[in-house]
Amino acid sequence: MLYIVPTPIGNMEDITLRALRILKEVQLVLAEDTRMTKKLLSHYEIDTPLRSFHAHNEHQVTENLIAQLSQGAQMALVSDAGTPGISDPGFLLARACHEAGVQVSALPGATAFVPALVASGLPSDKFHFEGFLPHKKGRQTRLEYLASLPNTFILYESPHRLVKCLGQLALHCGEDREACVARELSKVYEEIRTAPLAELQAHFENQPKVKGEIVVVVSGKRKK
Ligand code: SAM
Repeated sequence: MLYIVPTPIGNMEDITLRALRILKEVQLVLAEDTRMTKKLLSHYEIDTPLRSFHAHNEHQVTENLIAQLSQGAQMALVSDAGTPGISDPGFLLARACHEAGVQVSALPGATAFVPALVASGLPSDKFHFEGFLPHKKGRQTRLEYLASLPNTFILYESPHRLVKCLGQLALHCGEDREACVARELSKVYEEIRTAPLAELQAHFENQPKVKGEIVVVVSGKRKK
């Protein structure tokens, strides 16, 4: 059995009782960054062995992990923050488990885009999750596609690219399209700011240096 276990995106309290039990009971925890996960496990007095599983080794180690799982090993997959498989490694291992007949169970829990979407005040009945945009090649094409969507869409963005991103969104979607910047969710300096794109751009342009982790939520294109 492979358990996919969400971990906090900032606030250490955002982990379920079941997640803690599973992390304690499995034989091995597969972690994106073992040092980071070690801190989390130590905080909860869990001493399950850790093994590294990240974007640069997932192809090499998957076969061996599947062999162990097929023989009955119980493992938990975690990423640095939030839900594995959401803009983080997880998909390849889950697929390999299915192909090998290994059971996969994903625990509900922390992820950045859900609180951003529901706190934004933008329509959340239907939405598109985009994750990170490509930095260069393909960025314009994705922006054009996103701008044409009738539903709310969600991006992950780094703080130093936020202002540029808001400018590009304003260009493609129109300056008055409603959007939200959700910054530092669940942390001390959490900020949820919903406004037209041009206003958001002006606000963050006037900040000395934008810091922290960011989700951008943009409302869909209005029907004419
Ligand atoms: N697996 C994670 C999830 O379930 O949301 C996402 C991992 S992705 C590598 C990291 C990105 O998620 C950050 O660059 C940021 O866009 C977003 N993120 C993570 N934690 C956040 C937080 N506390 N506040 C706002 N955005 C966050």
